[in-house]
Amino acid sequence: MNAEIIAVGSEMLTPDKIDTNSLYLTQELNTLGIEVVAKSIIGDDRAKLTAAIAAALASSELAILTGGLGPTEDDVTRDAAAAALGVGQHYDESVWHQIEERFKKFNRTPSANNRRQADILDGAEVLPNPNGTAPGQWFSRSGKIVVMLPGPPRELKPMVASQIVPKLSQILPPMAIRARWYRVALMGESDLDSLIAPIYTKYTNPVTTILAAAGDIDIHLRARSANAEEAENLLEDLGSHIESLIGDRIYSNNGDTLSKTVGDMLRALGQTVAVAESCTGGLLGATITEVSGSSRYFAGGFLTYTNEMKTALLDVPSALIEKHTEVSEEVAIAMASGARAKTHATYALSVTGYADGDQAGLVFIGLATPKHTHARRLSLFGDRQRVRGLAVINCLDWLRRSIAHESR
Ligand code: ATP
Repeated sequence: MNAEIIAVGSEMLTPDKIDTNSLYLTQELNTLGIEVVAKSIIGDDRAKLTAAIAAALASSELAILTGGLGPTEDDVTRDAAAAALGVGQHYDESVWHQIEERFKKFNRTPSANNRRQADILDGAEVLPNPNGTAPGQWFSRSGKIVVMLPGPPRELKPMVASQIVPKLSQILPPMAIRARWYRVALMGESDLDSLIAPIYTKYTNPVTTILAAAGDIDIHLRARSANAEEAENLLEDLGSHIESLIGDRIYSNNGDTLSKTVGDMLRALGQTVAVAESCTGGLLGATITEVSGSSRYFAGGFLTYTNEMKTALLDVPSALIEKHTEVSEEVAIAMASGARAKTHATYALSVTGYADGDQAGLVFIGLATPKHTHARRLSLFGDRQRVRGLAVINCLDWLRRSIAHESR
């Protein structure tokens, strides 16, 4: 089954409001094995919405509309769906009674135009909305389904979970869905895609989705089959190809973040890490401690922005800074070994660099391990936030590889 989602509301065509309902709906539909093949945002315009619903039904079996079920003239979803389907509407007394009851509960009286919310498409099933006044509607005819849901996420989500998912599950053939979620550090999106596209584009099942952020890419594989074992086999078939092409740049095959992956490695070995940061201003420590339970392996950090602080807290000799400048391999090494000596952590990471200015993107990272202390020079590209984010990913990925190497 293919689906299209139409978010209704002119406010989502302004810079101020994002359509988040369709993200939630897509996740729920994908879990059922339903592909979302198109989604759109339509303002409060009857004619445009009617055309959009008709177009969605022409090519997909399921159209889900969210929003525009309120009591005012702007709320056009009911009328547009009726027009697109060529059916009438009727006033449903029992729905109106429920709306009145809800208003009573909050000591309010409905206004005359709230009656519009009791207008139901002929042939539609009413979907109760326990968290709001506008009920949803489910209309099914000749293998095509139109679902109308209220816009506010706190009303929509419970209705999807308790009503839409069970109704769709009943219609769908029994199906097992299995997913694998690879995460890859420090590869460019186009480099990665040109490496694996020749393989994954050959498969329609599993479906492959690639989500790229700076320095961090997710590859999501989703396989569907009549039984779980077959779905697993399909995943393994494509997954093993991808793994052999990307190799150890894959840091996780279950969607875990880099900080969680590194944390799990440290915890398993009973090891700890400390950080000494300059240009990242605490971002490295913050990223490591995003993970619940990180107190077991994170010793602590030094936020040494000025040269004086580097000397006072980490014993970086001021002569060394004078000779090589604070953004240098030598200082990165001294910061890492200083942090390791002060905390007695197994590993210490350091970062010093320029996040903006003439030399923006020049960053040195240091790593002190029980065996060595090294530094690396990075030439990072982008604005201040991107440079800082990439420096953190470089540190964590270096640590990941060192732990794997030194624990061999
Ligand atoms: P109500 O009866 O509460 O008015 P409705 O179905 O008419 O429900 P809308 O009036 O279209 O819903 O939207 C109400 C609010 O819900 C919007 O102001 C917005 O905050 C939120 N909302 C609507 N659509 C979406 C969406 N697609 N994603 C996220 N939030 C949304």
